[in-house]
Amino acid sequence: MPARDVLQYPDPRLKTPALPVADFDETVAALIADMLHTLDASPGVALAAPQIGANLRVIVVDVRRDAKEERRVGHGLVVLVNPVLLAAEEEHTIREGCLSVPDFTANIRRYRRVLVQGLDRNGQVQVLESEGYEAIAFQHELDHLDGLLFLDRVASVKSDLFPRRRR
Ligand SMILES: [Zn+2]
Repeated sequence: MPARDVLQYPDPRLKTPALPVADFDETVAALIADMLHTLDASPGVALAAPQIGANLRVIVVDVRRDAKEERRVGHGLVVLVNPVLLAAEEEHTIREGCLSVPDFTANIRRYRRVLVQGLDRNGQVQVLESEGYEAIAFQHELDHLDGLLFLDRVASVKSDLFPRRRR
């Protein structure tokens, strides 16, 4: 299974709400495999299925991929199908980026702690308590499933949106 191209803003598929996964068939298994390969080949820590053009509610998160050690705390590799946010607390402002919006970062309001529920790749229910960087990744990827980008959460384009320096 190859790594796939990550769709770039303003691709309309990034703005389309994704559909729940109904069956854990080979199509979903292949999608998850492609997402993991794509994540591996990327500089990011998380990916949502719509970012590779699949209109299904699947996310993969692995904060161990981050360059900063203090951000690597969490559950390791997480695959969540049909994820939902059960609870969230303590809003704060953090700087955020996205593989689909490579030219910008922005200050965004997010919750510091979240409780997320979803199905693992075998269809088993898992509930994850998460905080810090991983909690932000979950919120960011859940947004992708609803057709939202971090750009949609920027309060002030003038003061909170920043061009990213190209490496
Ligand atoms: Zn993103």
